[in-house]
Amino acid sequence: MSILVTGGLGYIGSHTVVELIQAGFSVHIVDDLSNTEEGVLDRILQITGTKPGFTRLDLKSESDLERLFEGHVFEGVIHFAASKSVGESATDPLLYYQNNILGLVNLIACMKKHGVPNIVFSSSCTVYGQPDVLPVTEQTPIKPAESPYGNTKKIGEDILRDSSRAYEGIHSIALRYFNPIGAHSSALIGEKPKGVPNNLMPYLMQVATGVREKLSVFGDDYDTPDGTAVRDYIHVVDLAKAHVIAVQRQLNKKQKTAYEYFNLGSGSGYSVLEIIQSFEKINGVKVNHEITARRAGDIEKIYADNTYATEELGWTAQLSLDDMMSSAWNWQLKLKD
Ligand code: UDP
Repeated sequence: MSILVTGGLGYIGSHTVVELIQAGFSVHIVDDLSNTEEGVLDRILQITGTKPGFTRLDLKSESDLERLFEGHVFEGVIHFAASKSVGESATDPLLYYQNNILGLVNLIACMKKHGVPNIVFSSSCTVYGQPDVLPVTEQTPIKPAESPYGNTKKIGEDILRDSSRAYEGIHSIALRYFNPIGAHSSALIGEKPKGVPNNLMPYLMQVATGVREKLSVFGDDYDTPDGTAVRDYIHVVDLAKAHVIAVQRQLNKKQKTAYEYFNLGSGSGYSVLEIIQSFEKINGVKVNHEITARRAGDIEKIYADNTYATEELGWTAQLSLDDMMSSAWNWQLKLKD
């Protein structure tokens, strides 16, 4: 069974490729290397004993994608390739609509033409905005997006739903990720942002290693137990495993409807200060930090209700917050070498 993984050399993509190979799938990766490097292929080989197929390709090029589909037979697609910086999307929205929307449209057009029946899509809890009621279930209303990035996730889901409705044979599953962190236990793959990190964990770890001086904690006047914002952090390996289950559900023709969507979180909410404390405790390092103003567009608190994923996919998050903190740190220490 051959699965095409777009963005398969990125953070979540590479962890998913490892789990796919270990579950017996043959994997072909496409990646434009805009936010990663080709050396990740060798690290996947080191972990799994298998080097996946790889084509450097930009999904915006319909003709390159067409050539790829002409040369391979895929049973399914997992689509990670996308731009993901909320801030950058506000300053360059067209870049986001081109990369995230055009890429998806080209991909589904090729799937349709070549009879590839299944796609799993990286969506995000950003589609819920700040929910009125917590935890968030799949019935929680979608809110208008706060950023062009968030909008591309919402529109991406719409494209999947409409395509699966209209084109018989296209089955799609959107996975709404909460906050993926942590790294593979081998410390051979993990998150490696280019430039100044936007997200909490990569920034925190660069402060812990001394690359950056101080972590800014964005706001301590939220309506949360310690005043800092609350998120649902999920180990990237747990997340990767959910993709394998979603692919298997599609191949076994177990989807209830041609388009499905699931929340993937741990089900627990942690504040920014709790994350810092837990990192410091498990790894025995201090993280220099100070409270600063809120970050524009941030939501106050969100965490998932995983009931639907548990019932339908038989999936729950297995790895603890300590696992997330220690594996992330082990990876960061190796990166420094
Ligand atoms: N955060 C922070 N300092 C940083 C980066 C993030 O205090 O340098 C906070 C941010 O305000 C949010 C949480 O950490 O409450 C998670 O932020 P991240 O950007 O990782 O994810 P998202 O906001 O997309 O959930």
